[in-house]
Amino acid sequence: MSAENKSPKETANPATDGSELIRFDGVTKRFGSNVVLDHMDFTVSSGKHVTLIGPSGSGKTTILRLLMTLLKPEEGTIKVAGDYLTHEEQNGKLVPAGEKHIREVRKKIGMVFQQFNLFPNMGVLRNITEAPVHVLGLSKDEAEERARELLEMVGLTEHIDKYPTQLSGGQQQRVAIARALAMRPQVLLLDEVTSALDPELVAGVLDVLRDIAHTTDITMLVVTHEMNFARDISDDVLMFDAGRVIESGPPEKIFSEPEHERTREFLSAVL
Ligand code: ADP
Repeated sequence: MSAENKSPKETANPATDGSELIRFDGVTKRFGSNVVLDHMDFTVSSGKHVTLIGPSGSGKTTILRLLMTLLKPEEGTIKVAGDYLTHEEQNGKLVPAGEKHIREVRKKIGMVFQQFNLFPNMGVLRNITEAPVHVLGLSKDEAEERARELLEMVGLTEHIDKYPTQLSGGQQQRVAIARALAMRPQVLLLDEVTSALDPELVAGVLDVLRDIAHTTDITMLVVTHEMNFARDISDDVLMFDAGRVIESGPPEKIFSEPEHERTREFLSAVL
């Protein structure tokens, strides 16, 4: 479709226009005396796939949990698609965000966790339709149509009537991916999504994610120890060490010609 034929809604789609989708400004996160992030600045452009790598405890998951508002920063601001996640504007002043504001901004963000976190008392279809119906207000039919398309995308159409316990970990994780995408988020956060899986189930989940990365324009922020996967899908790789990004760049540079000694050490331990 040429640009002239696009409707204004499509041309203005913030998920695909390359503008800044995520912005951390001076974000500090502490747990007691442990300063995990120290005045961190960090941006992700829309449509990009950005992977966070680095040793355990370096603050990668904290970034994702701040975006999911599971944690709050002690200092600094976080913006998603132009809206403050941490704050809201009242009478021209920035004040800490209230629950209602947070819920609205969070609709733009989908997350898949290490431990699937499916609703155990709901079948596969309802796991996927629950939030689109109750949070977005889709009709049951619309939500089911969306869920069926996504189940086809993750290769689970024949399991639509099963319960989570009747599925393998890899299949449950693929349902969790479909469930996150059913909310049509602008950014998908993936937190070590294959770490809890038996080794033989990892490839199936990574194949689904590669497919999503290569065929959709969703922005992805990924924490992973799967370096080949990171190399395949990433536009940018950020190497974390002790709560700082010590090196960043395209995967071919970070993986083949890392500049920082810590990056070389880390990669030689995991590759
Ligand atoms: P990574 O994802 O790079 O492994 P994390 O972001 O999970 O690192 O953790 C960074 C640091 O924050 C670690 O020192 C960890 O112990 C600490 N941390 C993370 N979550 C909590 C928490 N809920 N309470 C106390 N400390 C935490």
